[in-house]
Amino acid sequence: MNNEHVLPTYGRAPFEAVRGEGSYLYDAEGRRYVDFCAGIATCSLGHCHPVLVKAVAEQAATLMHCSNLYGIPGQEKLARLLVEQVIGIPGRVFFCNSGAEGNEGMIKVARRFGHRRPAADGFPRYEVITFNKSFHGRTLGTLAATGQTKVQVEFDPLLNGFKYVDFNDIEGLRAAVSPCTCGIMLEAVQGEGGVNPATPEFLRAVAELCRQKDLLLMIDEVQCGIGRCGASMGWKAVCPEVEPDLVSCAKGIGGGFPMGCFWVSNRAIDDAGTQLSSIMGPGSHGSTFGGTPLACAAGYAVVNEILTQGLVERAARMGDVVKSTVESWNLPCVEIVRGLGLLRGVGLKKGSFEVPEGQTPASHVNNLCREAGLLCCPAGPDTLRVIPALNVPEEVLAEGLAILKAVLSSL
Ligand SMILES: *Cc1c(COP(=O)(O)O)cnc(C)c1O
Repeated sequence: MNNEHVLPTYGRAPFEAVRGEGSYLYDAEGRRYVDFCAGIATCSLGHCHPVLVKAVAEQAATLMHCSNLYGIPGQEKLARLLVEQVIGIPGRVFFCNSGAEGNEGMIKVARRFGHRRPAADGFPRYEVITFNKSFHGRTLGTLAATGQTKVQVEFDPLLNGFKYVDFNDIEGLRAAVSPCTCGIMLEAVQGEGGVNPATPEFLRAVAELCRQKDLLLMIDEVQCGIGRCGASMGWKAVCPEVEPDLVSCAKGIGGGFPMGCFWVSNRAIDDAGTQLSSIMGPGSHGSTFGGTPLACAAGYAVVNEILTQGLVERAARMGDVVKSTVESWNLPCVEIVRGLGLLRGVGLKKGSFEVPEGQTPASHVNNLCREAGLLCCPAGPDTLRVIPALNVPEEVLAEGLAILKAVLSSL
C-alpha cells in the first residue's frame, strides 16, 4: 500500500477499502469484511443504500452547491425534520460539515450567551465545563474542549475557557462551576473515550444544575445521535425528559456523506423573552459548504429512512442482541458490555491475555478481528467498539458476532 503523499496522521490498517455493500466492506484484493465499524458510526444505512445513492445522484444532477447567499429549500426541509421528529423541542439548526464544526458552533453560541448573560460583576462568562474521557473533535477549539491530553500534545497554548471533571460525578461538577461558567458540554454516551453512558440521574442533575446556574446544556450527539442508541437522540436513550439548549450532530446524519449541524433552542434566556436561537443573527457564523443542496438531500434521505423504517427501534433491539450474545459467551477476557443501542463497547479485562509491545488490548483485539474478517474499532485502550449500520441484517450481525467469539475465545 503506497501512501507516501498522504499525511500520516492515522495509523491505518494494512488494507485498502475499495467497495461497500450493505454491512460488508471489500478490500482491493476482493476480500470481504463484516463491517461493525460503519465508518465510525457514520454509515448508518450501511454502504451504498439505494435510497441514499438515488437522493445524492438526483440532487447532484440538479444543483450541487450554490452558497448560503441564497435560499436552499433542502435546508428547511431537513431542519424541520430534525427539529420536529429528532430533537422534538422548538429551535433552529445551522448546517456544517463535520462533528468538530458542530461543536465549534455550540461553543460560539455559549460564548455569545455569556456576553448576553454576564457574571454578576458584568464580565462576560466564557467557561465551558467538559468531561474527562470526552471527545469533541480535532480543531483548536474542540481539542481544547476534549478531556483527553492525547489530542492536545504540542498544540498548546490551548484555547482558553475549558475545565474538565469526571463523567457521572455530579458533586465534582457542582464544585467546578465558577462565576465565569456559561455552559456544560457532554456526550450522552462517550464514544471514543470508551463507550461510557451518562447515568439518568447524572444527566437529570446536570440539566437541573444548568437551570439553577443559568448555564447552557450542550449535548454532543455527533456519535450517539440520530438513532444510534435506540432513541432518536442519545440523551433520550438515557433520560428523555431532559431538555438541552444546544445539540450537535454529524457522523450518522449523512450516512457517509460529510455533514454536521448544531441545533439551538428557541427557549427564552431573559425576562424580555429573547430566544436563545436569536442571538446568532446575520454575520455571527457561516460556512461556505455548510448545508449544500447535495448534503441536505443526503441528510434528508438518511434521517427520513431511519425514522420511517423503524431503524431507531431496531437499533435498540439489535443492541440488546449484541449485549446478550457477548455476555452469554462468559469469556474470561470480557469484563463488561457497555453502551446503548448499537453503540456498544466490549470492555476487555486487563491482564487476561497477552498484548504485543506497542499495542493496547483494544487495538490488538481489533487487529485480530480484522485478520479474521470483522471490522470493529477501538474506544480507548481497553474497549472494542461495536457500531454496525442501524440496518445491519440479523444474519450479518450473527456472522460478525461469530467471528468476534472465535477471536475472543482464542486469546
Ligand atoms: C467523531 C466525533 C467528533 C468529531 O467529529 P468530526 O466529524 O471528526 O470532526 C466530535 N464528537 C464526538 C462525540 C465524536 O464521536
